[in-house]
Parts: sequence; structure tokens; C-alpha cells
Amino acid sequence: MLGLMQDWPLTVDRILDHAKNWHGHREVVTRSVEGPIVRTTYAEIHSRARKVSNVLKEWGVKPGDRIATLAWNTGKHMEVWYGIMGIGAVCHTLNPRLFPEQLIYIINHAEDRIIFVDLTFVPLLEAVLPHCPSVERVVVMTDEWHMPATKLPKAECYEQVLSGVSDEVVWGGFDEHTACGLCYTSGTTGNPKGVLYSHRSNFIHTLMGMQSTVLGASPKETILPVVPMFHANAWGIAFAGPAAGARLVMPGARMDGAAIYELIESEQVTFSAAVPTVWQGLLTHLRENNLKIPSIKKVLIGGSAVPESLIRAFHDEFGVEVLQGWGMTETSPIGTLSNLTPELEALPYDEGMKWRIKQGIPPLGVELKLKNYAGQEMPHDGTTYGRLMIKGPTISKGYFKDEGGDILDHEGFFDTGDVSTIDEQGFMQITDRAKDVIKSGGEWISSIEIENIAVGHPKVELAAVIGAAHPKWDERPVLVIKLKPGETEDKQEHLDFLVGKIAKWWMPDDVVFVDDIPLGATGKIDKKLLRERLKDYQLPTAIAPSRG
Ligand code: ADP
Repeated sequence: MLGLMQDWPLTVDRILDHAKNWHGHREVVTRSVEGPIVRTTYAEIHSRARKVSNVLKEWGVKPGDRIATLAWNTGKHMEVWYGIMGIGAVCHTLNPRLFPEQLIYIINHAEDRIIFVDLTFVPLLEAVLPHCPSVERVVVMTDEWHMPATKLPKAECYEQVLSGVSDEVVWGGFDEHTACGLCYTSGTTGNPKGVLYSHRSNFIHTLMGMQSTVLGASPKETILPVVPMFHANAWGIAFAGPAAGARLVMPGARMDGAAIYELIESEQVTFSAAVPTVWQGLLTHLRENNLKIPSIKKVLIGGSAVPESLIRAFHDEFGVEVLQGWGMTETSPIGTLSNLTPELEALPYDEGMKWRIKQGIPPLGVELKLKNYAGQEMPHDGTTYGRLMIKGPTISKGYFKDEGGDILDHEGFFDTGDVSTIDEQGFMQITDRAKDVIKSGGEWISSIEIENIAVGHPKVELAAVIGAAHPKWDERPVLVIKLKPGETEDKQEHLDFLVGKIAKWWMPDDVVFVDDIPLGATGKIDKKLLRERLKDYQLPTAIAPSRG
């Protein structure tokens, strides 16, 4: 027997309709790409998004067509985003930090018809576009006074294009499984892969995101999404913000510590989300200038593991709670969150740290499993490693135009490519990406765990641990360090710092100081590039002593 409730397709246009109807006056504040702070509301964003829809329809855009954005987090980007999705077209967020060759590959693979671009990225697009035959038009997201003299063919000015256009348009009315957003993973191995979100998956993800244990979005919050909209939908904030009627503060092109501090202080931000490197930048700025951020209650940190030193700094120096999130582009991205249970919260702070540094437990709608390479399920004992498998309505089941087809195991789980443990409390902890794990003497060493301790040394700016070939042990860990400016090199003090905090056989065989540790397109350490740079490096312990 079927239930007798209404069929109400879960499409994301309803999110902005709701924001306009019930939170229409709530502000979206942007540090505009042109410079000044710009204030708008959900009602205005709704009206202008509908104008975008009409312009796209006028240009012959049909449901399913891919329309790209190459843009920062701004109110305008939200208009374009909802304007595209509302008529059933697919909003393809391009990551401007990718190499031009990768962007060319992605734009061609997606067959983008139109690209909306911020002023900042016009030169980048000028270099890329001659190689992208599918692109018919470019819209520069600025007004006529700031419109650059550009070589881009058929470049239009956003404000001119919208002027005089009606905001009457029909949104939605299609199947909730209709594709809605496209985001390519950075493809650290092989070509980038297109994750194709549906209206339904994004809607369900929004409901998940609004929970107090996730983003906790509500009209009482002022949320600053530093995580870009091109990085897995700003972790859902561009949907959950309007869905909950939260006030949004968009950082535009500036994500340095000073700029982020300014916005937090002037707009009284209560919650923010970003990758660890952004927070390190903010902490440095706060410390150097003896500043505080009393309006902030909680920050969400994810994208890569959160070092204990970062959690402590926020807690001890600034009274801010850190919530760690784990997820992937393929998981929309919410996977797990490090909310402590009341029992764990009741422990002395230092004892609870064991769980604070873990990635935590999934919200409703996400299933997790640990499996070994033979496909057997591994115990949740906190020590046994396994491949982390994930399932749910917000998890990918295939990649866009992928010949490989089905990417799930026979039980419908997606292999995250992460290696992790799950403890008796249900707390998941990422030990490594499968391809970064260090295999030493038949056992695995977690590079992430060592890095997270090493970066806590006061002289260290960034730390990475990679495996180096060893004739006896296969691989041994090497600690690669970028020191803070002005600090002097002393290998031993960094090894001493690890003593007692990791197993003896995990102790790196060497420390290498470098001027730069490369970061990838989503702000994480690019280990592939780091390994390439150090390909001629030989472990001192692996070199046979010369016979005199
Ligand atoms: P990309 O591969 O393009 O960087 P994602 O942003 O989708 O794309 O990266 C997802 C990966 O980032 C995860 O599989 C995991 O390895 C890593 N990751 C994300 N959050 C965390 C976290 N809190 N701790 C450790 N690793 C994380």
C-alpha cells in the first residue's frame, strides 16, 4: 500500500523561492570583486536569478545544457547559479586554481555552452577559450564601468545583459532526479572526473546541512563560506544558507587572514567554513595583531585533516569550537562530522582530544563501511585499517560521460579511496589516501597522523610525510618541512618533537627542508607533485655505506 502524501519534487529552485517568501529581507553581503562591500537580499537575488533564467532561455539554453561559472563566492554567483538550475540547465562550477590544460579538458568534456566569469579570471579565460569550441558566449560578471577591454569573443557585460529583462519565469516542474550541478574532482590520478549532482541529491544534502550537528544554519546565524562554491558547492552552504534564511557573508576574491578577519569583525560572523590552510592564515593574522574574534562560535574545518594544534589554538586562544568535517566532491560533500557525544564531551578537554582530531560520525542519510582489499568487512575497533566505503542518496553512483560506468561495489557502496579506522564510539578517522599510505615492512604508516603532529612544532609552517624507497623495508617515511620565515634548520628537533607521540617504527628516517610545499587546486598538499619534486632524493638509511 502506498502512502497518501503529496508528490512535491525536491528541486533546488524551491530553496530560493522559500528564501524569498519567508526570509526575503535577509542580507547577503559580498566583498565584491570590484572592491567595495555590496549588500543584497534573498528577495533581490531571487529576482535577479530569474532574470538570468530569462536571458539563458532567450539564448536558447535547454534543460540539461551545461552552463559554467568561473567565479568567487559572491551574491552574483548565487544569482547565476540559481538562474541556471531553476530552468533545468546544469551549473558547472569551474575551479580557477586548476592548470589551464585541466580547465580546457574539463570545459570540452562538459561541452559548456556559456561561461559566466569574474573579472579576476578574464585573462585566464582568454588563454583557455581558443581551445574550447563548445563555448558560444562569455558573460563577464561586472557592470559596464568595470567591463574590461578583452580579447574574448562575444564577451557580454552581466549588468547590461540583465538590464530591462523580466523576472517572470517558470522554474522547476521537472523530475527531481534531473541533473543540476557539475563539479570535477581535481584528478590527482588520471583525468578529472565529473560529479553530476541532481536536484534531489542537493535538496536532501541541504536538509542534512541544516542540522545543528552539521552547518546549523538558521536565521540567527551569519555564515561566512570561505570554502569556494566551486569546491563541492561551498560544502552545501550556498543551498543551506537560503534554505534556513541565514545571513551570508561572501568573501569574493580575498581569502587572506586580514581580509577574513575584517569580514568576521565588521559583519559579526557567527559561523564559517574553510580548509585548514585558510584558518592557519587567519590565526597568524590574529596573533600578529593581537586580535580576537568574539562573534564566532564555531568553525567548520575540512578538506584535509585538522591538526591538533589548530583545534587547540582556536579553543585555547580564541574560545572557538572546531567542528571537523570529512567529505569529497563525490559525497556532495558531507560525509562525517566530529561532534562529540555528551559522554565524550564530559571528559577532560585533553582526553576528549583523541576524538576531536578524528573525522567523526555520519549524519542520517550516509552509510559507512570499512573493507579490506578482499572485500571483507573490517571491525570497528579503532585500530584496524580498511578502505572507507560510502552509500546514500547524496553519494555519486557514476561519473559524467564515464566509459567505466558503474563505480559501486555489489552492495552499492562507493570506494572513497581513503583508508581509515572506525572506533567503538563510531568515530571514523582517516589515516591516509590509499595512494599516500606508506608501506613499511608489510605494515602501513599513516602519513596524516605524523604530519598533524609535526605541524604543531612552533617553527613549522607546513609539514608533509611521504614514503621513500628503502631496500629492506620497501618504504620508509620522510618528513618534509617548510619552516616559518626566519627559522633555522635543525632536523633533530623535529624528530625529537615526535618522540612519544607516534610508534617508534613510524619515526621518519630523515627530515628534508624545502622552500615550498605545493598545494593543489582545493588548497591541500599536492603529494603527487611533492613526490615528483623529490624523485631523486635518497634516504640516508637506504644508501649502502661506501667501502673505504
Ligand atoms: P580533491 O580530490 O579534488 O581534493 P575532494 O575535495 O573531493 O577533492 O577531496 C576529498 C578528499 O579529501 C577525501 O577523500 C579525503 O582524502 C580528503 N579529506 C577531506 N576532508 C578530510 C578530513 N577532514 N580529514 C582528512 N582528509 C580529508
